[in-house]
Amino acid sequence: MAKIIDGKAIAAQIKEEVKAGVAEFAKQGITVTLAVIQVGEDPASCVYVRNKKRTCTELGIRSLAYEIPEQTSEEELLSLVEELNGREDVDGILVQLPLPAHISEKKVIAAIDPKKDVDGFHPYNVGALSTGEKGFLPGTPAGIIQLLKRSGIDIDGKECVVIGRSNIVGKPMAQLLLKENGTVTIAHSHTKNLPEVTRRADILIVAIGQRKMITKEFVKAGAVVIDVGMHRDENNKLCGDVDYADVFETAGAITPVPGGVGPMTIAMLMHNCLESVRLRLS
Ligand code: NDP
Repeated sequence: MAKIIDGKAIAAQIKEEVKAGVAEFAKQGITVTLAVIQVGEDPASCVYVRNKKRTCTELGIRSLAYEIPEQTSEEELLSLVEELNGREDVDGILVQLPLPAHISEKKVIAAIDPKKDVDGFHPYNVGALSTGEKGFLPGTPAGIIQLLKRSGIDIDGKECVVIGRSNIVGKPMAQLLLKENGTVTIAHSHTKNLPEVTRRADILIVAIGQRKMITKEFVKAGAVVIDVGMHRDENNKLCGDVDYADVFETAGAITPVPGGVGPMTIAMLMHNCLESVRLRLS
């Protein structure tokens, strides 16, 4: 039977640490500030942006909301990013994805000052992760490392398998596990004999975007299973990429959905906002 890794509790711990750091800066007259840009009214984006703003308020971070219409041109968005880059009172800039089809996400991300790129998506920060330089780490994979470490799970020398190779989860996840001295395999939709590959894992990270695809046949007895997926099941209940009930008896430890990886992503974003001030002052 698996130990449940409580992402909600660990995220709460990190948020408390961030809150204390923000309060320290406030004593020095520095207000940690995050600018959040949302283009259009995609319902999922509205929920994410609302959660981010609420968490900022909870932690004493000032959030500046730019909710701009769907028809905004790429040039207009780029000039807003440019303006925020130049503002000394703005520490972090977040552009909520996805953007409408007429705007290039790549161009917009590349326009953000890497020192304010609290999502860690700018090519500079992606490169910094790969070469081991200082930079912002993307929230989801950085949050998973925190989940593992704060649950007392050692990564050093372990067989780690990441399923998924997206730029925001799979690839940075593999880099971070490598940095922690894991022996890392990345699996994807072209991987042959996937269950054979995943059964090698002491630590299995699942980020495939397929509802409840990972069953016990994919999991070695005693393995740590981290489920990044986020879906609604047939009863409209939240569930992950892992079939939690099926894997529970086989895994040694597992993250639930909800209450596993999800809360960590936002906690790490808040952590990055604080880091951006530390970076600026260092
Ligand atoms: P992407 O769709 O960008 O990437 C999915 C990856 O999974 C791809 O690399 C794909 O391979 C691989 N894949 C898809 N199907 C299979 C399969 N049958 N076998 C093996 N590999 C497969 O997704 P993201 O990385 O953005 O997100 C993954 C999941 O995590 C989603 O459910 C998303 O909602 C969730 N998510 C949750 C977050 C949170 O905070 N909890 C944050 C971000 C994402 P290939 O490259 O070959 O196509």
